[in-house]
Amino acid sequence: RANRLFHPEDTVVDINGVKVGGNAPIAVMAGPCSIEGEEHTIKMAKAVKAGGANFLRGGAYKPRTSPYSFQGLGTEGILDMVKAREITGLPIVSELMDEVHIPEFEEYVDVVQIGARNMQNFQLLKAVGKMHKPVLLKRGLANTIEEWIMSAEYIMAGGNENVILCERGIRTFERATRNTLDLSAVPVIKEKTHLPIIVDPSHATGDYKYIESMALAAVAAGADGLEIEVHNDPPHAWSDGAQCLKPDKFADVIAKCRKVAAAI
Ligand code: PEP
Ligand code: MN
Repeated sequence: RANRLFHPEDTVVDINGVKVGGNAPIAVMAGPCSIEGEEHTIKMAKAVKAGGANFLRGGAYKPRTSPYSFQGLGTEGILDMVKAREITGLPIVSELMDEVHIPEFEEYVDVVQIGARNMQNFQLLKAVGKMHKPVLLKRGLANTIEEWIMSAEYIMAGGNENVILCERGIRTFERATRNTLDLSAVPVIKEKTHLPIIVDPSHATGDYKYIESMALAAVAAGADGLEIEVHNDPPHAWSDGAQCLKPDKFADVIAKCRKVAAAI
């Protein structure tokens, strides 16, 4: 059960020795929105590792609003990430959109991301509840914290207790940012559940200019980690370029976040 009442201690999820939650150092999951081929993935993995990331994130199956937008490299993209893991040692995080890909994710991926658009895909959540890999469950575009916790419960009820939550902004009337980052979700989740929670300032704001301030605020609020999109050439990124940090800026933001984490 996700409820703190049944489990007073913080859950710490261990991914190949990298811990997320509790008193562990902040977990930093970074990389491009979409995987863009082997050479690029290796380059990005090295860059985010040098900048302080402890996970490589990248999408091979992309939940795009338009069916005519790039849909992801699929298996080829997953294998590009595996190659990058071999070289850098960084565990890999990627989004699962369909049950048919579960065997592939069991074999290759270290953390299974369930995206905002599938937060209430209960059939998928049940299937992921039977998986043997930790799950990063992103908050739905227009879901309450209570609904989000129930989705975590679907995964845990199946036997998979290694759930990490990710606040990635919710849809409000405000259009100045892509979504509205609900930072109060961090203390609320910590009060109601024992699960780790990380924050994704990239999808929350949609604008690279706001990543630093929101990442710092997330760490100050007690988040267990961050998921940040990074690209060497954002204008040419295959998706979400507007919200990608360049590697140098990313390194600078993470160094500042680690100072905040040490200070609180
Ligand atoms: C992503 O992480 O690239 C993504 C699609 O995120 P979200 O599901 O939060 O929109
Ligand atoms: Mn993205």
